[in-house]
Amino acid sequence: MARVYNFSAGPSCLPEEVLKRAADEMLDCNGSGQSVMEMSHRSKEYQAIIDECEALLRELMEIPENYKVLFLQGGASTQFAMLPLNLMNGSGKADFVITGQWANKAYQEASRYGQANIVASSKDKTFSYIPKLDKSTFTPDADYFHICFNNTIYGTKYTELPDTGNVPLVADISSFIMSEPLDVSKFGVLYAGAQKNLAPAGVTIVIIREDLIGNARDITPTMLDYKTHADNGSMYNTPPCYTIYMAKLVLEWVKEQGGIAAMKDRNEKKAKLLYDFLDSSKMFKGTVVPEDRSLMNVPFVTGNDELDAKFVAEAKKAGFVNLKGHRSVGGMRASIYNAMPYEGVEALVEFMKKFEAENAQ
Ligand SMILES: *Cc1c(COP(=O)(O)O)cnc(C)c1O
Repeated sequence: MARVYNFSAGPSCLPEEVLKRAADEMLDCNGSGQSVMEMSHRSKEYQAIIDECEALLRELMEIPENYKVLFLQGGASTQFAMLPLNLMNGSGKADFVITGQWANKAYQEASRYGQANIVASSKDKTFSYIPKLDKSTFTPDADYFHICFNNTIYGTKYTELPDTGNVPLVADISSFIMSEPLDVSKFGVLYAGAQKNLAPAGVTIVIIREDLIGNARDITPTMLDYKTHADNGSMYNTPPCYTIYMAKLVLEWVKEQGGIAAMKDRNEKKAKLLYDFLDSSKMFKGTVVPEDRSLMNVPFVTGNDELDAKFVAEAKKAGFVNLKGHRSVGGMRASIYNAMPYEGVEALVEFMKKFEAENAQ
């Protein structure tokens, strides 16, 4: 069976070693005589799996002691509501930087619960850059300040964090988690849907400073209160057991590869190969300003919709799948997460060169 190179933005490719290990353990995980899918989440076998997953995440991301790690459901999208319900309980204000669709959704959802302010936006140029931030425009008594760290759809990422002083900085790291080191202590809350760079779909990782737990509004549903999950080790109800197990396997793989610093090295090499080609090509061009380019999501266009469509179709036939850009942007996008090998990007660039030569005007 031939495996394709899968450039999907999410759910996305997983390391082949991890898939094989999961296959090996499908009928009998660790001598238990059961699949992880069949285990009681209250069993000691399963407790060992979730504990190990958390321990590995803490070790690899160097998460400080005063942060809780929560394994939740509902995707990153549920965090757009959980954040205001739990945090927007002081001044009732929060600041947002609009760098794309996800950042905007976080803003819109928070607007339903309090005063959400836009401090900057890059909408004027189709979110092709990260706006420069002016601290004097920040709300000094905001309950939190929200950014989307890596913009999956538009292919931008922050290189410098906003200085929010005592206002907790909250970041959506769905398509950034584990791709390069991050100083967790600079944030109040980090959250990520796992299906980009960590696991299959189904679990949302929340890393939250302890003092931000326990202040939810009275109307907050029990399941949307961080305290419920923090007090119960993410087992208030049935967690997404199998996805957490898969996350554990991916974290073990990351550790074997040399950890997050090694991931960053690899990701920089992969991204450089593709961006260098885009910068030298006469046909293809990247859509993001060089200084804000994402290492994970690389959008590009030919400038001709028909040629874009032809490229996507021919690439698919050649075994490079899911290269079509997000429906709101068009063109192409190559998502090159941790699990995408260097050879995959190399082969893609060779294919693009060939396509360019064959279709030159
Ligand atoms: C994919 C994505 C989301 C949405 O995640 P769901 O888990 O589908 O809710 C939110 N933010 C970012 C940055 C994403 O890439």
